[in-house]
Amino acid sequence: MAAPKSLPDDVVLVSRIEALLADPALEHDPLREPLAQLLGHFQTQRERLERLVRISDSYHHVAREQRLSLVEQYDKQVRRLEKLVRISDRYQNSLRDLSLALRDAAMRDPLTGLGNRRFLMERLREEGERTQRLGRGFAVAIMDVDHFKAVNDAHGHETGDSVLQVIAQAVESGVRRYDHCGRWGGEEFLMLLPETPLEAARAIVERIRQAIADIDHVGEVRVSLTASFGLAEHRDGEDFSATINRADQALYAAKAAGRNRVESA
Ligand code: GH3
Ligand code: MG
Ligand code: MG
Repeated sequence: MAAPKSLPDDVVLVSRIEALLADPALEHDPLREPLAQLLGHFQTQRERLERLVRISDSYHHVAREQRLSLVEQYDKQVRRLEKLVRISDRYQNSLRDLSLALRDAAMRDPLTGLGNRRFLMERLREEGERTQRLGRGFAVAIMDVDHFKAVNDAHGHETGDSVLQVIAQAVESGVRRYDHCGRWGGEEFLMLLPETPLEAARAIVERIRQAIADIDHVGEVRVSLTASFGLAEHRDGEDFSATINRADQALYAAKAAGRNRVESA
């Protein structure tokens, strides 16, 4: 059998005092009155103390709840920030992709897929600066398709476009890996050959001229195509635009001399 649970000392004491106060034999005891007052005072104090303990307990509870909810709020904000960072990263990546794509589009000729005049100007400027710095030199060839207007007139503008695409492929296949080529405008193409002396450049351009002359059909359409070339080698101290002007003059000379040929400045 379990031992009876002992009551707290003050409970035992209070019930003893209550018993004494209730005892009729002690009704006239002079201690009875102050004892009754003391007991009342003690009980009031005890209630007060219990109330304080209850208040303190609930205060601790609220403080703990608040602490927890602060931690939760903090975690939530951190997660929200992480999400924002991810979104911003993604946004920046797609902006970068977009600006690269825009840059590429701004530099490319949509018909032939080759670099456009802006692309060529940038390469020419670069090559001009490199040449000035390192004294390496470069050659430039400008090519113009012969009697291209007649191709349009005979087969229509759309076939004319396809012809330009085929010619662009011949130009691109004809240059070396480290050369640059592009569409200079209309039916004109430009080739930039870094570190290439005039005679070596002439051999490359001559091969391209031959490749174009060998084209005998574009799609279903039988064609006979030729192109003329003006070639110039960069001169020491010369601005790259001066080199281009000389290549242009050589092209004019090639046209005047009967077309389907390479003339050097
Ligand atoms: P030349 O031998 O003197 O160069 O004669 P050409 O007929 O080639 O010269 P011209 O400058 O008279 O004509 C160039 C033609 O190229 C006229 C123009 O309509 C055509 N052309 C220019 N760009 C394009 C294009 O993107 N597509 C098509 N289909 N034709 C174009
Ligand atoms: Mg032209
Ligand atoms: Mg032409």
